[in-house]
Parts: sequence; structure tokens; C-alpha cells
Amino acid sequence: MRKVALLGSTGSIGTSTLDVVTAHPHRLEVTALAAGRNRDLLRAQCERFRPRLVSLTRPEDAQWLAGQLSYRPEILHGMDGLRACALESGADTLLAAVVGAAGLASAEAALRAGLRVCVANKESLVVGGALMRQALAAGGGELLPVDSEHAALHQLLAGHPPEAVREVRITASGGPFRDWDRPRIEGATIDQALNHPTWKMGPKITIDSATLMNKGLEVIEAAFLFGLGADQIAVTIHPQSQVHAMAGFHDGTYQLQVCANDMKLPIQYALLYPDRLPGPVPPYDWEAARTWTFEPPDLERFPCLALAYQALAEGGTAPAILNAANEVAVAAFLEGRISFWRIQACCGAILSAIPAEPAHTLDQVMETDRRARDAARTWILQHTQGNP
Ligand code: NDP
Ligand code: MG
Repeated sequence: MRKVALLGSTGSIGTSTLDVVTAHPHRLEVTALAAGRNRDLLRAQCERFRPRLVSLTRPEDAQWLAGQLSYRPEILHGMDGLRACALESGADTLLAAVVGAAGLASAEAALRAGLRVCVANKESLVVGGALMRQALAAGGGELLPVDSEHAALHQLLAGHPPEAVREVRITASGGPFRDWDRPRIEGATIDQALNHPTWKMGPKITIDSATLMNKGLEVIEAAFLFGLGADQIAVTIHPQSQVHAMAGFHDGTYQLQVCANDMKLPIQYALLYPDRLPGPVPPYDWEAARTWTFEPPDLERFPCLALAYQALAEGGTAPAILNAANEVAVAAFLEGRISFWRIQACCGAILSAIPAEPAHTLDQVMETDRRARDAARTWILQHTQGNP
């Protein structure tokens, strides 16, 4: 029986994870649930899964929850609550599905403690990839990707020595603006950007998919997960989201990974690895393959992808700087304070303005994250007075 601490249980990945747990009652058990502010959903999840440790962001919500439940779990709050859920609930597995750099410290601590850490929270690998790898080596646990492209690469690269791999390709749907010309993209509205063609996800990653920053973050994520250089990771636009990644070997051969675009598949892969069991997703329907197409990305209309390659090449804290600027810019866009096109402008400006340094410690990386957020907020104020 795998004992799972689930951070971000009220989100898109969190609720899909609980569907996977429900489908495997003899293999998976929940020991901790952590959420941000959605206390009503967390309450329902607690009654259903009965975790012994629970956490919310705000102390008043934690107090409210304590008065609502029909049993008495330990209820915590804030970053300490996230960390305690990871380390003190008796879990042997962490499913990290918080959104943003807020998920880094708990995932790093769990790796250091030797847990199996299933990472959906790609920002933690972008911001602290080198530190996560060090924690993995020190703790002797396991790091398994949940991001669909990286779960695909984990499957494709297994059993191949690194020197056999020439390149990997991760696919991108291209998002809702794949066919739009640049002037139209520049003025895209919030509703248009939230209208993702193939995946149903939380708002932040949905905007990242529209700018292609999501694919950029995934290039950086792949570099840290699989020890690949920027020149070994390519992106292919595949609007149907059925082929998730490809591995290219030196003999000229490619292997592709195919499955339905349902996150329950990579979630189950990471939780049950190395076992393959029937789960909550029906068998693949090969009729879908009739429509497959592949095309290269357009960096002129989607400059965020180029910025991510730039940050990966710069190394050190550059990916953390880019990620922080992007988190601030996406939040500002979702609040109607900046236009869609300003997301990439803000990210580019902050990446150029703050020099990258070697990333030695978690504190140093989090300090860089804070500085880059402040710089992004200032940039937004300066560039938007009366004009988003
Ligand atoms: P959602 O916005 O749907 O969910 C985010 C979750 O994190 C919610 O449970 C939210 O709580 C919680 N949360 C946010 N901030 C905090 C915090 N400071 N402390 C504790 N909990 C917090 O996002 P997704 O599920 O879509 O994405 C989660 C992560 O997985 C992201 O990093 C994303 O990039 C990655 N991912 C997602 C995919 C998807 O299909 N959705 C695919 C691949 C990767 P609440 O809602 O209660 O406030
Ligand atoms: Mg992905």
C-alpha cells in the first residue's frame, strides 16, 4: 500500500489524483491533503479520504475546517503546513501539485527525506532543478514526473544509456492561438486565452499554454529531470495532444509515446510505477490517430519559448528569474491589469534586467525569486499606467 501526501488537492491535478486513488483502493491510500483557499472542497475531500494531516494557506480557514469535520485530523496552515503534510503524515509518496514556486520547499524536503516524489509542479523543477537533484541524491528517494511529456520521456528513455540519446522532442498543442497572426495574439482577451483546445487545467498553466511559456518551462524541466542539454531538447507542435514525447537515438531511430490526453494516465504511472494496471481511463482509441499532424513552433509569435531556451542556456538562477516574472505577469493578465502580449515583454525585460548567479542554496534561490517578483511588479506598474 502506497501512502500518499497530496499537495494541491483542490486543483485540476489534485482532483484527478484522487480519482486515481479511488480506482486503486488496495494500492493507494491518502495520508495528507493540502490546499490553498478552497476550504469547502477540501472539507469534502477530508470526509471522503480521511487524511490524518490537512493544511490550508490561511489560519482562519484551518480553524474553520476544524469546526466542520466529523473526525479530528491535525489541521495546519501556510508553508509549514505544506512541509508537515509532506514529511509528518507517514507518507512514503508525495504528489506535488501545488501551482508555482510555492511548491519547491516541500518537494525538496520530501526528496531529501527519501520519499518518492511525483512532480506535477513543474515550477519547482524550473526554479530549483539543481537543488532538487541534489536532494534526490542525498535522500535516496525517487523523482517521477507527472507532467505528461516528461512521464512520456521517463517511459521512452528507460533502459537506454544516456549516450545513446541524440535528442528528445516534447509536443505542444500550440494552445488556442496556434493559427492566429501576431496582431490578433497581441490583443487576446482573458476568455480567449483560457479556452484551451485539448487540456482542461488550472488557470495559470492554461495561460502558460497560450503563450507557449508552458512548453518553455517544460524544456527546462526536461533538462533537469533527464540531464539533457538545451540543444538536445526540441519542441514539436502537435495540436491533437496524443503523442506526448519522442526520443531520438544516434542510429536515426525515434520512439514515440502515445496515450489519451488525460492527466490521470501520467498520475497513475508515477504513483504505481513500475506497475501498469487498468485504471480510470478507457483503452486508447486509435481512430484518433487519423488526425495527427506535426509542425515546428513559431518563436516570433510565441517569444516565451525562446526566453526559456535563453534562461536554460544562461543557467544558475536565470530559470528562477524567468519563472518569477512569468508568475507575476500571468497573475496580472488574469486580473486584467496587463495585455496578453505584455506577459512576454515583462518576462523578457526581467530576465535581461537581473543578472543570473550560480544557484547554490534554497534560500538563495528563493531570495532571487522574491527580487524578480518585485522587479516584475515594478515593471508592470511602470508600463501600464492607464493602459494595460
Ligand atoms: P490548479 O490551479 O487547478 O490547482 C492548484 C492547486 O494548488 C490548488 O489545489 C490550490 O489550492 C493549490 N495552491 C495554490 N497555491 C498554494 C499554496 N501557496 N499553498 C498550498 N496550496 C496552494 O492548478 P493545476 O492542478 O492545473 O496545476 C498544478 C501544477 O501542476 C502546476 O504546477 C501545473 O503547471 C502542473 N501541471 C498541471 C497540469 C494539468 O493538466 N492541470 C498538467 C501538467 C502539469 P486552492 O485551489 O484551494 O486555492
Ligand atoms: Mg505538460
